Amino acid sequence: MTTAERIAAAFHAAYEGLAPANGYETRKASAKPWAEVPENNRALMIATVEALIANHVIKPGPASGDPANTGHGHVRPRPDGAKARCGGPGICSQCSVEQAQMSKTP
Ligand SMILES: [Zn+2]
Repeated sequence: MTTAERIAAAFHAAYEGLAPANGYETRKASAKPWAEVPENNRALMIATVEALIANHVIKPGPASGDPANTGHGHVRPRPDGAKARCGGPGICSQCSVEQAQMSKTP
């Protein structure tokens, strides 16, 4: 995964996760995990991030070496202790997904 894609994927997860708490319903086609977002939509977001980096609007931070630091932190505590300001399970779709995944795990 390139740096631009990593940022685009993180932006996507945060955007979709925060949308419900902000009274916004995103498009059904894009309200999915990054890997399931339509390819043209993903390509557009990656190209947008590349443009923002090229224009010095954003500067990539260090990649998280720990893939466990990708959740919202409400259902599954993150090693870095961060919690998303998303409202948690029931309000946030990402947290609800995490909760569903956790309850499936024996
Ligand atoms: Zn959340």
